[in-house]
Amino acid sequence: MGLDDAELVRPDSVSVTLRCPICTEVFAEPVFCSVCQQVFCQDCIEKAMAMCEAACPTCRAPMKRLQPSLVVGSLLSELHVRCMQPGCYWTGRRDERPAHGMQCLAKELGKIQELRLHLEQMRAALAFKEDELLSLQLQLRSWTDHANALENQAKLKQLQLNAKQSMLEFTQREVDDLKCQLQQTIKQHHASHFGHSLLPLIFILFFLLHVWLFYDTLPAVLGIRDCLLASP
Ligand SMILES: [Zn+2]
Ligand SMILES: [Zn+2]
Ligand SMILES: [Zn+2]
Repeated sequence: MGLDDAELVRPDSVSVTLRCPICTEVFAEPVFCSVCQQVFCQDCIEKAMAMCEAACPTCRAPMKRLQPSLVVGSLLSELHVRCMQPGCYWTGRRDERPAHGMQCLAKELGKIQELRLHLEQMRAALAFKEDELLSLQLQLRSWTDHANALENQAKLKQLQLNAKQSMLEFTQREVDDLKCQLQQTIKQHHASHFGHSLLPLIFILFFLLHVWLFYDTLPAVLGIRDCLLASP
């Protein structure tokens, strides 16, 4: 592809000798056939050679090495061209355009606009991230409140459990006391029962002792035993 006519200030005034026979545009990077001296765009002839087995499209001679056309190149440098940056109205020699491009205000303005657009996109992304962060903070606060409520519930349950445990221990002590009292009562009851069961035996023993004393020992002691035995 050659130089677009839109880049030229007056494309109609350009000589046909400066136009490529393949693309019909003004040469870009002109090279020539060493046999027929025909000039082509380098890009155009390379594509043509790829299809025509490295032969010149004009004279069919083999083209092994492409040589730049310095004469045509210098003529192209003198062409009156435009700056292709939108909003720039600079025109001048083609070989001066690269220098203009280094300080083209419209190009700088385009860069500034691109940066501004990028900045706006970054601001929008930042705002979106801030919204996300706010949402996450709200969610975190909600979870924290929920966690605190659960912790308070757990503390209350623990207090209730401790109170119940204390009551249970108190009740256990009461039960133990009652058990002791019951055991003591049972022991006392047994002792009393045992005492009651011994009474008749004690009574009999006392009776026998009384008989023994009265009929045997006591008279002997008093010396009246024989009298009692002798008496019918
Ligand atoms: Zn061409
Ligand atoms: Zn040729
Ligand atoms: Zn410009």
